[in-house]
Amino acid sequence: MLIDTHCHLDFEQFNADRQEVINRAREQGIGYIVNVAADLNGALASIKLAAEYDFIFAAAGIHPHYVQKADENELKRLREIAGDEKVIALGEIGLDYYNHTTGGLLSDRKIKSRQQELLCAFIEIAKEKDLPIIFHCRDAHDDLLSILKDNLKGRTKAVVHCFSGNKKFLRNCLDLGYKVSFTGNITYKKADNLRDLVTYVPLEDMFLETDAPFLTPQAKRGKRNEPSYVQYVAREVARIKNVPEEKVADITTQSARLFFNI
Ligand SMILES: [Zn+2]
Ligand SMILES: [Zn+2]
Repeated sequence: MLIDTHCHLDFEQFNADRQEVINRAREQGIGYIVNVAADLNGALASIKLAAEYDFIFAAAGIHPHYVQKADENELKRLREIAGDEKVIALGEIGLDYYNHTTGGLLSDRKIKSRQQELLCAFIEIAKEKDLPIIFHCRDAHDDLLSILKDNLKGRTKAVVHCFSGNKKFLRNCLDLGYKVSFTGNITYKKADNLRDLVTYVPLEDMFLETDAPFLTPQAKRGKRNEPSYVQYVAREVARIKNVPEEKVADITTQSARLFFNI
């Protein structure tokens, strides 16, 4: 059994065939799906989906791309719905300093500090509700680490999703007790650096995810990604680590179930 620990089935890319996608995941042995929100509406939609399907759970948060339009009221509502019985984590939250318009790095200080502000606010909600956290981090590794060291203080129920970064960042995350999760991008031809990182992460500290509809594995490239494709991530991890696929499935599933309490 596999778990897709991070996907976005509430996104409009699934409007036409959401139910078929979910059925396909079930038929192909995906035991659980964690549907991760990017904003308040996403969190509400995730909770609705989770209420409809036993094996789907929700995470509530605001993706760093959407922090600018998020006001205090949105944060307040998210704090309330974090208490829903199917909300098993906060996320995705974090820092993203990549500038999608220029392809360079974000230089706007205001946006960065708003991301940091919301990150800290969500860490407080996680402590209050005793929920694990799903972090998104792109090109902001040092800032993320220093905020986590100051604010999480020994709490280890955190996962850095769609892991990217260098070996030092990876080492720091593992030393702090955080989990690391990998997506279909580890199957890409040019992803030798990511495959190298996979070799350093013990299976016990690793989760598998699709981040669907994005990051479709190489074998299905050109198509929209979906939770059933998490099997390609498992297969690639098994190949990289030279262990049976079943072992990858068993260990990563067991630690994800413990972490999310499902
Ligand atoms: Zn993300
Ligand atoms: Zn995501």
